Amino acid sequence: MRNSSISKFFEKSRKEKLDIVKNFANLSEEELKILQSNNGGISFEKADKMVENAIGTFSLPLGIATNFKINGKDYLIPMVIEEPSVIAAASKGAKIARIKGGFDVSADESYSIGQIQVLDVDVSNGIRKIKESEKKILELANSKSNTLSKMGKGAKEVSCKEIDTPLGKMLIVELLIDVGDAMGANITNTMCETVSPIIEKITGGRVLLRILSNYSTRRIVKAKAIFDKDGVGGDEVVDDILMAYQFADNDVYRAVTHNKGIMNGTIAVANATGQDSRAIEASANAYAARTGKYRSLSKWSKDKDGNLVGSLELPLSVGIVGGISNVHPVAKICTKILDVTSAKELACVMTATGLAQNYSAIRALATEGIQKGHMRLHARNLAAAAGATSDQIDQIVQKMIKEKKISLDRAKKLLEQI
Ligand code: NAD
Repeated sequence: MRNSSISKFFEKSRKEKLDIVKNFANLSEEELKILQSNNGGISFEKADKMVENAIGTFSLPLGIATNFKINGKDYLIPMVIEEPSVIAAASKGAKIARIKGGFDVSADESYSIGQIQVLDVDVSNGIRKIKESEKKILELANSKSNTLSKMGKGAKEVSCKEIDTPLGKMLIVELLIDVGDAMGANITNTMCETVSPIIEKITGGRVLLRILSNYSTRRIVKAKAIFDKDGVGGDEVVDDILMAYQFADNDVYRAVTHNKGIMNGTIAVANATGQDSRAIEASANAYAARTGKYRSLSKWSKDKDGNLVGSLELPLSVGIVGGISNVHPVAKICTKILDVTSAKELACVMTATGLAQNYSAIRALATEGIQKGHMRLHARNLAAAAGATSDQIDQIVQKMIKEKKISLDRAKKLLEQI
């Protein structure tokens, strides 16, 4: 059984950390070399094939969050993020959630929604005719993917809706497609384009847009965890966290920042595994406003024993095949470290990480404030950069915080004095 609860992981050297990850994930020497190579994982030649007008590549820190137990399975979670404290906060949140068994997460099947905009049409007649031809439309859509058809996946349903706009009524035809273990953007767009000519023929209208919707409401992931009352810091801290949550749930200015904290966790895993982070954030923000008011994406309450209970629901469109997940060597290794075997499992991990992150942020805000932890971590990084050993780091950090002088020069001076 793999154990992600690794004592003092943050104090270990890079080599020790890599050895732990290598053993945990059964990485090959080749994969280890890629992680050690310091070039961010892709060559210029690869970058030049990915985007237009390429002039270079750009790398970001890759770290590992520890302590995660999700649906009874232990995970070391690769996170790519430039912001300090996030990886530590996720690990801390997971550590407290672990006391009561970790995260319970479930995910819908991977259904994407493709939209076809039909103009110059008698909408109600069009809807009736489309429904009559549903089988034919689905067959044509599915002719575009042997892979999905062989897996029993692919286009499953056609639905229609009318929208009323200042430029007149429009018919929107939607394809519901089980895209399996991919994000599914390309197959969704392909299927929409493929069926458009017969949709024009059937309805007598004119098709304009044919495109995936990033609002993935048929790919909802639900995570829940119980945070042990004593681990959280006692009854008062639990109650203050509930007050902090009410602030987020009832004020848009606070809610946006609160949800951004959730994205700190979720997007860092998205980055590490090569997901389309813009799609995830756009969808999450729309979901936060689904009641007509922008609110907290997470919910916080307490159980009868006074433990803190957190839940998070996200519409998540992610893949373990396709996109750059199979092209970027570091993204491939990160997916291997996670040991996820389906897009649904990856979505569960990303949602649990968002919830862990949210717990730590809201707890820090409701107790000592966010800055103290940030400054402590900053001081720790500077002490390490000055060359201090793990025993010396604590002494230097304490002194710098007490003096309120946190700099690399000061860390170097204090190290000389030890
Ligand atoms: P992709 O185009 O690489 O397609 C996935 C491929 O994997 C398909 O050919 C499929 O047949 C194959 N496959 C093999 N095994 C599979 C399995 N088990 N389940 C499902 N498919 C399997 O990848 P994609 O997910 O269609 O595209 C993702 C990329 O598209 C991202 O980079 C995204 O940024 C980009 N994109 C996004 C949008 C948008 O968000 N609006 C629009 C266009 C493109």
